Amino acid sequence: MKYQILQGGTVVNSTGSARADVLITNGKIEAVGELSHLQIENAEIVDVSGRLVLPGGVDVHTHMDSPMSGTVTSDDFASGTIAAACGGTTTLVDFAMQRPGQKLLETLDEHSEKAAGKAVIDYGFHMCVTDLYENAAREFPEIAQAGITSFKVFMAYRGSLMLNDGDLFDVMRESSKVGGQVCIHAENGDIVDRLADDLMAAGKTGPKSHLLSRPPATEVEAVNRAISIARMADASIYFVHLSTEGSVAAVAEARSKDWAVAGETCTHYLTLGPELYDAPGFEAAKYVLTPPLREEEHRKALWRGLSAGSLSVVSSDHCPFCMEDKFRLGHDDFRKIPNGGPGVEHRMAVVYAEGVRKGRISMEKYVELTSTAPARQFGLGSRKGQVAAGFDADLIVLDPNGRTVITAETQNQNMDYTPYEGWDLPGAIEQVYSRGDLVARDGKYVGKSGRGKFLPRATV
Ligand SMILES: [Zn+2]
Repeated sequence: MKYQILQGGTVVNSTGSARADVLITNGKIEAVGELSHLQIENAEIVDVSGRLVLPGGVDVHTHMDSPMSGTVTSDDFASGTIAAACGGTTTLVDFAMQRPGQKLLETLDEHSEKAAGKAVIDYGFHMCVTDLYENAAREFPEIAQAGITSFKVFMAYRGSLMLNDGDLFDVMRESSKVGGQVCIHAENGDIVDRLADDLMAAGKTGPKSHLLSRPPATEVEAVNRAISIARMADASIYFVHLSTEGSVAAVAEARSKDWAVAGETCTHYLTLGPELYDAPGFEAAKYVLTPPLREEEHRKALWRGLSAGSLSVVSSDHCPFCMEDKFRLGHDDFRKIPNGGPGVEHRMAVVYAEGVRKGRISMEKYVELTSTAPARQFGLGSRKGQVAAGFDADLIVLDPNGRTVITAETQNQNMDYTPYEGWDLPGAIEQVYSRGDLVARDGKYVGKSGRGKFLPRATV
């Protein structure tokens, strides 16, 4: 047996904080409390006094090694999960993206092969349905039984990823039958496309047009429509990457009626503004991610929504494309710039600094939004997201007196930029444990390669 004791820290869960030691036995948390009386021979004692001990981050929105927009995301499961671990995230739920003409089960096999033996932290998958071919839904029971209990649909990108409302309705109905939930990218794709075409016709070909073609109402309309369709389908739904005040209000209203509706936002929608699209030349392509960054009134509404419980989760939507790729594909047509940015490595540090340290959310709320709630929402709530006996020993040791400086130069993400370049933040994630293994120290990966395990998820 292998015993470890993290001694003298303050354990933070979503439900409260207390001075407590943590006993880890063979990768599982065995006990949390005052443990100095324990006499365990050969126990490894780690002094974490003055530090906070939190459950490792759970990021339920990443795109590793994923084919999109005529290219592939720049992080594979090795570099992407190493970056996640270094930033304090110990569990991912990644999107298995169906390519045109590909069967759903084939998609899963292909994505599983990309992750197996490469991921260094535990991971699950969402099943993206971009083409509801005849009898596709007959594969849903097998997919759910394999522990992939969420399906993702797009209401934007007609001609590549978008489902029409009928197919959306079918995915929701069939998902319900297998106890799954449907993750929704909510934007009115047809209206976005018209606005984008208008901008191109007017000669506005640069990255700022990405912002102009996706006004807040294109998201809000789709959120309301998806909620209506989910009611007709009797489905459980989860909105990914919400960015607007109107969407928060729509989700809040649905939840007030006890409908099975949940929503996430992402680090960048909370912390970055649309003035970044005024960067010179092609620089603004760094922020061509979807939906675009929003004005301050929306950022404030997102923080309020998180505090009030209207929004449940902060994810990264890590979808990295290097600037070379963005330029090659979209330098003369913003519609072709691959949509996405990096973030899996910096979510925990940025949300801690901007949320907790700026007084917008409590430490316990931070743990809930970044770990406990996403684990529960996606069927991992019995293993991940708490510092409690019986849970996996996925832990972060955070020094509130430390600092974190973010630069592209020093990041672990396989990327040539970070939207948080030069940010100097209070707080430092000093140690990260995954199932009891120390995997990262001071932002550097120190674990074994390929040690991550696939997580079959429960239905919710
Ligand atoms: Zn995404």
